Amino acid sequence: MTLAIWLDGSLRAADSAQVSVFDHGLTVGDGVFETVKAVDGRAFALTRHLHRLAGSARGLGLPEPDLDEVRRACEAVLHANPAPLGRLRITYTGGVSPLGSDRGTAGPTLVVALVDTDRRPDTTAVVTVPWTRNERGALAGLKTTSYGENVVALARAREHGASEALFGNTVGRLCEGTGSNVFVVLDGELHTPPLASGCLAGITRQLVLDWVGAKETDLPFDVLERAEEIFLTSTTRDVQAVHRLDDRPLPGAPGPVTAEAMRVFAERAADDLDP
Ligand code: PLP
Repeated sequence: MTLAIWLDGSLRAADSAQVSVFDHGLTVGDGVFETVKAVDGRAFALTRHLHRLAGSARGLGLPEPDLDEVRRACEAVLHANPAPLGRLRITYTGGVSPLGSDRGTAGPTLVVALVDTDRRPDTTAVVTVPWTRNERGALAGLKTTSYGENVVALARAREHGASEALFGNTVGRLCEGTGSNVFVVLDGELHTPPLASGCLAGITRQLVLDWVGAKETDLPFDVLERAEEIFLTSTTRDVQAVHRLDDRPLPGAPGPVTAEAMRVFAERAADDLDP
C-alpha cells in the first residue's frame, strides 16, 4: 500500500493528498500517464518512460513536464514506500479548470504514487474484441488518461476469463491490447505490428525488438487465428505467453520462440536497470 505520494512539488501522506474535483484530468481525461515497474526500490527503464511521458504530453498539447522533477518525484516515492515489487503511477494532467472551460491557468497537476502489483503468470488467456483502435485519431500512440475504451474491452476480457483484449485498427489490421503490445509467430518467425497500426510505442515491445529481434509487419487481424504462438509485452507483464485466444487453446504455451523471448528479456532486464 502506498504510504506517501508526490503531489505538485512535495511528498504527502497518501490518505490526505487531494486533487481538485475541477482537475481537467478528472473532468475530461485531459492528462497523460506512465506505469513504471519498480523492483526493490529501483525503477526499470525510467528514462524511456519519462521521454514517453513528455511525448504524450506534447501530443495532447499539455505544457512540457519538467522531467528532472518527475524523476525526483519517482525517487522520493520509491524511497518513502519500500517494497520488493510495485508500479510507479505517474499522472500529469491539465490542472484545475472550472467545468466547461479550457485548461486551468494554475498549471498542470503531477501525481506520482506507488501501486501494488502481482507477479504475472507466465501464460494467460486473451480475447479479441470487435471495437477498433483509430490509428488516425488524435490520440493514436499517446498514453493518455482517456482510457475508457480500454476499460470497456478489459471488462469484456474478464467476462470471458481472460486478462487481456486485443484490438484491430480501423482498416482491419492487428494493433495491440488494452495495456500491452502483441507479438505473433508465423512460420517460426516473430512479428509485431508497426507503430503505424496505431499501437502505443511500448517500452517492453521496443526492448524485445532490440534484444530478441522481430519483424515489424502490417498484419491482418485474423492472423491471430493461424499464429503458431502469441505473446504480450508490457511493463507489468514483461513477456507473457498466450495459452488461449477466444475459444482456441494454444497448447504448449509458451512455445519455443516465446520461451526464448522470455528468457532473453528476463536476463537482459536483470542486467540493465535503465536500458
Ligand atoms: N499498449 C497500451 C495501450 C498500453 O497502455 C501499454 C502499457 O502501458 C502498452 C501497450 C505496453 O507498453 P509498455 O511496454 O511501455 O508498458
